[in-house]
Amino acid sequence: MQRDLFEEEHQLFRETVREFLAREVAPHHDQWEKDGIVPREVWKKAGEIGMFGFGVPEEYGGAGITDFRYNAVIVEEVIGIGASGLGYSLHNDVMAPYFVDLTNDEQKARWLPGFVSGELITAVGMTEPGAGSDLQGIRTTAVREGDHYVLNGQKTFITNGINSDLVVVVAKTDPTAGARGTSLLVVERGMEGFSRGRNLEKIGMHAQDTAELFFDNVRVPAANLLGAEEGQGFFQLMGNLPQERLSIAVMAVAAAETVLQATIEYCKSRKAFGRSIGSFQNTRFVLAELDTEVEIARHYVDKCIRALNAKELTVVDAAKAKWWTTELQTKVIDRCLQLHGGYGYMMEYPVAKAWVDSRVQTIYGGTTEIMKEIIGRSFGF
Ligand SMILES: Cc1cc2nc3c(=O)[nH]c(=O)nc-3n(C[C@H](O)[C@H](O)[C@H](O)COP(=O)(O)OP(=O)(O)OC[C@H]3O[C@@H](n4cnc5c(N)ncnc54)[C@H](O)[C@@H]3O)c2cc1C
Repeated sequence: MQRDLFEEEHQLFRETVREFLAREVAPHHDQWEKDGIVPREVWKKAGEIGMFGFGVPEEYGGAGITDFRYNAVIVEEVIGIGASGLGYSLHNDVMAPYFVDLTNDEQKARWLPGFVSGELITAVGMTEPGAGSDLQGIRTTAVREGDHYVLNGQKTFITNGINSDLVVVVAKTDPTAGARGTSLLVVERGMEGFSRGRNLEKIGMHAQDTAELFFDNVRVPAANLLGAEEGQGFFQLMGNLPQERLSIAVMAVAAAETVLQATIEYCKSRKAFGRSIGSFQNTRFVLAELDTEVEIARHYVDKCIRALNAKELTVVDAAKAKWWTTELQTKVIDRCLQLHGGYGYMMEYPVAKAWVDSRVQTIYGGTTEIMKEIIGRSFGF
């Protein structure tokens, strides 16, 4: 079925992004996989062509356009070339709402121009060694002392952890107040007592810097609190998680589509028993099933994008999109790998890299099990 999500301006933007990725990213990504990180320059170059912060008001350097279809275009193109090291979607899809919607004018002036230019790379620190799914179990604390907060604690698995300049840290400002005792503080590169641990060794997404962060009596100015008042952090996070989960779903469908198309081509050319492997009924049935499921997922996700743009995407809608599409992605890629035979196990075939890169999708941004909890709770049990 024809996709009708995009207008002409999105298609033009897609061409710009595609050309940029072919020139600045694709030729270097293998090296970045070996380095375990992408260079900061590729962030600035993306900033120069307007890839970051569409929703940032024009006075701070952005386009002032709130339209998630532009974000989706970037995600699809990045995934289309398997550039899993670029942390652009974390910056653009996940962090932008924190910096655009929760900042005051003074903070906007300090941070937004760099956000848009790619000179200030962002990250979010929610997860700790002892608390992931159970966000209320975090132990990082921020104690107010005059016009500062004194921050102590540790975060782990932080995307853009090494490259980031601004980290939104989730901390307890009142450990006795439950959900109302959590706040979001922006910790900046170079603050005394803020250090980074290892660039973590992962099974996939090798070019993506994922790190531990440590806070040892970091004096964070109270002016770096997000939102008008303390204690709103948990609700601010809950408000932004649907967009994060939708971004992951967009990624999931794009990855499944990309691998599926490559596999169909492979099945046309690969011969066994004197015939193309695509001529076996099993191959055609597997591909037919996957193609059907991916197309259905695509239409649900496109509808979610429209709903997000209309400010109607619910937490439950986004949870459905996230768990369903990411589970589908891992299934599709696994079946496609099987159809490649031994070549599917070789890193020179994109399906192999897609397989390891995809595994985390059902875990970060809220696990499949947590998504089902969210949906299940909506029945009012
Ligand atoms: C590559 C990568 C990048 C990441 N990037 C970031 C980032 O940028 N910022 C950040 O803050 N975090 C990030 N994370 C962390 C990620 O969000 C967490 O790993 C995830 O939320 C799960 O938390 P956990 O690892 O502590 O697992 P746990 O919470 O310990 O869960 C372990 C298992 O128990 C299950 N489980 C837990 N609670 C329940 C329940 N109530 N009912 C049923 N099952 C349950 C889970 O589904 C899971 O299967 C990243 C993780 C990875 C791997």
